[in-house]
Amino acid sequence: MADDAERGKAAARRATRSARGAGTALTTERGWQYAPAPESREIVSIEPEYGLFVGGEFAPAASCRAFETVNPATEEPLTQVALAEAADVDRAVAAARIAYERIWGPMPGSERAKYLYRIARILQERSREFAVLESLDNGKPIKETRDVDIPLAAAHFFYYAGWADKLEHAGFGPDPRPLGVAGQVIPWNFPLLMAAWKLAPALAAGNTCVLKPAETTPLTALLLAEVCQQAELPPGVVNVLTGAGETGAAVVAHPGVDKVAFTGSTEVGIAIAKTVAGTGKKLTLELGGKAANVVFDDAPVEQAIEGIVNGIFFNQGHVCCAGSRLLVQESVADHVVDRLRRRLMTLRLGDPLDKNTDIGAINSRQQLDKITELSAAGEAEGAHRWSPPCELPKKGFWFAPTVFTGVSQSHRIAREEIFGPVLSVLTFRTPEEAVSKANNTPYGLSAGVWTEKGSRILWMAQKMRAGVVWANTYNMFDPASPFGGYRESGFGREGGRHGLAAYLDV
Ligand code: NDP
Repeated sequence: MADDAERGKAAARRATRSARGAGTALTTERGWQYAPAPESREIVSIEPEYGLFVGGEFAPAASCRAFETVNPATEEPLTQVALAEAADVDRAVAAARIAYERIWGPMPGSERAKYLYRIARILQERSREFAVLESLDNGKPIKETRDVDIPLAAAHFFYYAGWADKLEHAGFGPDPRPLGVAGQVIPWNFPLLMAAWKLAPALAAGNTCVLKPAETTPLTALLLAEVCQQAELPPGVVNVLTGAGETGAAVVAHPGVDKVAFTGSTEVGIAIAKTVAGTGKKLTLELGGKAANVVFDDAPVEQAIEGIVNGIFFNQGHVCCAGSRLLVQESVADHVVDRLRRRLMTLRLGDPLDKNTDIGAINSRQQLDKITELSAAGEAEGAHRWSPPCELPKKGFWFAPTVFTGVSQSHRIAREEIFGPVLSVLTFRTPEEAVSKANNTPYGLSAGVWTEKGSRILWMAQKMRAGVVWANTYNMFDPASPFGGYRESGFGREGGRHGLAAYLDV
């Protein structure tokens, strides 16, 4: 262990010496740098302005107001996007209603499926364009948009296309009916993927949609609208309203909306639940989390380290199910933390379009401020803060991967959702203590467990109060597998057969 510590320090010294500034801030333990491998942004053409997508056409907002979206890695303005207000919401809901009653609702499932398959295939064909655009607008590394966001989004359309003509076999009775018009509000952490999670099951079940993407990441939802045109989806079946929180609130409150689906913060989820209460609208909420990733002393350490890194540093930690609390058995805690630090020194932070980048930009100044504030609170409350040697780019929104040790359960960094690349490490001695600490949160979205004993995995999975429990892996997603939480993490499931229930009158 002493040798490991020395090696870690030596690597840190080498890393400091060879940090070369923007885009190459962290270096390898071996002391050499990767050559830049930027993905070309030529494949994407960004218009100077974008309208709302209503009734199959792009048009400016009724008020002609617009807002700017920026590249969070550089703060460079990307384009102007229409700001939807009440009149636009009226128009979009009316278009969705007509499409529901006249075309999409009565259409046989086998016909609806063809459109979904078409959208899925076009997403695959244009995947590079989507990946680059998502990285530009969101700040996430191209290897994640290319290998995770876009393929999974296409997979969701493929999966639900398969259900469209089999709804009577889904276990919801002989003739399950759609709900009508779905108002869907999504966040900025997985912009296209969240759009796919919302649209694919809704459309397969025969609903029409009014989608409100996040203010900071509207561009891939607008490109998806273009894909809907390309797939010749009937006008009004999908409508995209860009705007701010007030736009989302207007969609949710609109009397012409039959179903509300929301992913985002618990705070806004609670406000939406209040708006919807008593209206008869059906509601699903996918909210925040503070997941425990539990590592036992018999866990395969190298695999667990990869799982810990993937659990909290994937997508800069902007993940509702992020393993933001590492619970590690006391007898192996020093060893695991030491290995983890060495692994973090090999991560590469910088240009999101560089194919070697592991950690991209924080999505917005507002989110960066929140991460900075909570991390400062961690230090002030007495936890020990550590980051690998790391020179952050001068422009843009950046935060170094950070690990807190000596964290106690009362610390804010152990209780509040940070939604950034910040890991809080706590220890435990017995499985019972691990369960009690893992469940000591108002959230209940996800958890991880690392051990070689199958019986312990099953015991932990039964005891941990989380909608999803990963065993010896983390952040694995599949369209066929339901995802969702309970308690302050919300209710309802997305994905799988269960995801259809949210869009059917069952
Ligand atoms: P929000 O919950 O505010 O945003 C999610 C979506 O809801 C966005 O499209 C947003 O629009 C919209 N919205 C905002 N206010 C309302 C409202 N009153 N009624 C209807 N829709 C609304 O998340 P933030 O982006 O503000 O992030 C704040 C925190 O939330 C993060 O720090 C993180 O902790 C958590 N979060 C959790 C997510 C999750 O998946 N669990 C996802 C995103 C954030 P707009 O973007 O225009 O404000």
